[in-house]
Amino acid sequence: MKAQHPLFWKHLCELNGINYCHPDVTWKELFCSGELPAMCPHLNTSMLDPSFIQAKKQLVWSQLKNNRVVCLDSTCNFFGETAYDTDHYATDRHNIILKLSSLHIMELWCNSCIGFDYFHSDTKQGSKSESYIMRKLTKNLGSVTQETDTQLITKKRQEIESNIFKIQFRNSTTHIIQKDWHTSWLDFISGKTTHHPGPLLNTKISRQDGSLNPALFLGKDFELIGNLTRWYIERMYGVSGTIVSSDSLKQNAEYCKLLHSIRLRQQMNSSLRYPFNH
Ligand SMILES: [Zn+2]
Ligand SMILES: [Zn+2]
Repeated sequence: MKAQHPLFWKHLCELNGINYCHPDVTWKELFCSGELPAMCPHLNTSMLDPSFIQAKKQLVWSQLKNNRVVCLDSTCNFFGETAYDTDHYATDRHNIILKLSSLHIMELWCNSCIGFDYFHSDTKQGSKSESYIMRKLTKNLGSVTQETDTQLITKKRQEIESNIFKIQFRNSTTHIIQKDWHTSWLDFISGKTTHHPGPLLNTKISRQDGSLNPALFLGKDFELIGNLTRWYIERMYGVSGTIVSSDSLKQNAEYCKLLHSIRLRQQMNSSLRYPFNH
């Protein structure tokens, strides 16, 4: 077959209703992956336009309460209680909504394609390109880019993130992140600074081949976070490198010492949480 112009594949994807793509994936790969029919055609790249983001940011952060929804149609300013969102969909056919809550803030939901970015759910996590655009969208909605955003967003983020921090280990596995980022994050959520730490760089704690360095120390080189914090960081901060969960190290003898220190920490935490059981 004759080599096709790269835009050929982009047009083919667009004809199938999909105009977004993960930057590591070419339009040709996306088209040939067979994923197109399963992807949400209601997400689109215009949702990343700065003017769209700025308008929705105002709406989202001024309405941020438990069980609120915000419509992400570009022409619509609808927000409401979760119970009414199907009514809004029924009249306006606006598919993409953002479900707001004080802990799992900004869960993206498509009324036609079923939710794909819920914290408590086994529903599909979305294809690589879907997750890319969803995360980019929520990250942009949560970022402080203008002077006016500081007042609107920073305090609420500190509140939300310190609540997440407090409950993160309930019924949760633990995940390993770089200590220096964790320290800057604590400074932000405790109000010591109004500057959030930026994307999580988790590269210092890995070896050349990308696996976790087993010679690291808890509290010195790395810290632990729970599922909820991981979910939040991946969406609102973004991650370079990988976050390893401590469960995934269990089969590997070289992490024996490292896992032991994690277990000690967990025992200490649970005795602090239930002081009267001891
Ligand atoms: Zn959809
Ligand atoms: Zn709407």
